[in-house]
Amino acid sequence: MSNEEFNGFCICVHCDTKIDHKKGVPCRETDCPKCGKKMMREGSYHHQLYLKKKNENNENCSSDKESCCG
Ligand SMILES: [Zn+2]
Repeated sequence: MSNEEFNGFCICVHCDTKIDHKKGVPCRETDCPKCGKKMMREGSYHHQLYLKKKNENNENCSSDKESCCG
């Protein structure tokens, strides 16, 4: 039962920093050590929502490269 020891990660979507999740401390109440913004639990509902949004934006970007990247 080593899974009990594994608490996952907190991830900063602003600078892609990933740290060990501290037991009893919600990721959203943890400040990113690099940029100081609030972190997210990796794989959480909000994180997945963020990634989905990001992917959608990327798809828009590739289909409309000039206005996005030009
Ligand atoms: Zn950060």
